[in-house]
Amino acid sequence: MQPIIPIQSTAKGCSDAPVLSEKGQREVFCGLTGIIWLHRKIQDAFFLVVGSRTCAHLIQSAAGVMIFAEPRFGTAIIDERDLAGLSDANDELDRVVSELLARRPDIKLLFLVGSCPSEVIKLDLSRAAERLSRSYLPRVRVLNYSGSGIETTFTQGEDACLTSLLPTLGQRQSPNRHLLIVGTLADVVEDQLGALLHKMGIDDFDFFPPRRSSKMGAIGPNTVYLLAQPFLADTARGLDALGAQRLPAPFPLGVEGTTAWLQAAASAFGVEAQRFEEAVAAPRQRAQTALARQRSQLQGKKVFFFPDSQLEIPLARFLHRELGMELTEVGTPYLHRQIMASELALLPEGTRLSEGQSLELQLDRCHADQPDLVVCGLGLANPLEAEGFTTKWSIELVFTPVQGYEQAADLAALFSRPLLRKHKLAA
Ligand code: SF4
Repeated sequence: MQPIIPIQSTAKGCSDAPVLSEKGQREVFCGLTGIIWLHRKIQDAFFLVVGSRTCAHLIQSAAGVMIFAEPRFGTAIIDERDLAGLSDANDELDRVVSELLARRPDIKLLFLVGSCPSEVIKLDLSRAAERLSRSYLPRVRVLNYSGSGIETTFTQGEDACLTSLLPTLGQRQSPNRHLLIVGTLADVVEDQLGALLHKMGIDDFDFFPPRRSSKMGAIGPNTVYLLAQPFLADTARGLDALGAQRLPAPFPLGVEGTTAWLQAAASAFGVEAQRFEEAVAAPRQRAQTALARQRSQLQGKKVFFFPDSQLEIPLARFLHRELGMELTEVGTPYLHRQIMASELALLPEGTRLSEGQSLELQLDRCHADQPDLVVCGLGLANPLEAEGFTTKWSIELVFTPVQGYEQAADLAALFSRPLLRKHKLAA
């Protein structure tokens, strides 16, 4: 196997910058939210939340109205009898799963998703998943992970889900280098990035998670992987433990991020500089032209990030370097320095970084900064709008295809649109 040549960067940016670390009241979604994009991605999987009516309402409202499709998620409701220990929740769960699988022969992979209530009654979903797998394999594999608000925030649900999938990856013996692209991407984004890799001559790659559970893929000592999403620290640790090697890179957001991300793959596979250039030149140029239009709307505007999706640092890098926005505070729920190293190096020195949340203190800083745009969770957006701030819901940034060259201008538009709307309303 050829050695991996890391991309040399002399940039320092915020690599060693101090981080304001806060603990206190926080305002974030729980990990159940990830079901919305995960169930669209893995098309033969079903996500069964073992939770309360609140959990059912959360994912139903996050998913919007889905009356025409048979949804591939649902909630097994834990009611008062279960909470009081008057009934055996395991028996109930077995009954619900049996009815579900009898009704839905299309389901090949079933996730039991833990919630706050299932944790409170100490329902052991890993044992339940093992028991149910024994009953239903080979037709259906049953796995479990936690999406509870006690243990996870928002995008950590995907991290937990992918970690639970790692043992289902096969073992690869091939001596050839193989690339795994890790993190849920919209199909259209996968197709575009895959086409660019093929153009460079990189053909041996897989996406994880795959679109169907039967295509789970395999990894071996010659597998290198690129994170497509920044919130997958546990998944990355699991892949490292299985012998795969992470390619350090910024995330494929914006022209610069996408180019550097593809360059990391190209370097690992020994792609010649000219071949790389020929593959990316046209889409990169298109994206730069489209971004120039957005830049005029966003340049010089101040943006404040509340911690929510863990996308905050790559987004801040994109908004500052490609659109000329001024960063007031970049908050993230967790800062994984290794995963974020390439991104931190690209942030302007002196950027105020914060990790975790103490909501009141952070609101005070936001009031003092008076940003033009606040990126935050849904719960904060309405009160901030009522105070006259312009907001962007961070959840939209996860639900919308934003990675790659063709989506760079769409990503910028997600930030310029609320400013434009405010301008129009004022006029
Ligand atoms: S925070 Fe807990 S109770 Fe609320 S929706 Fe999430 S898992 Fe359910």
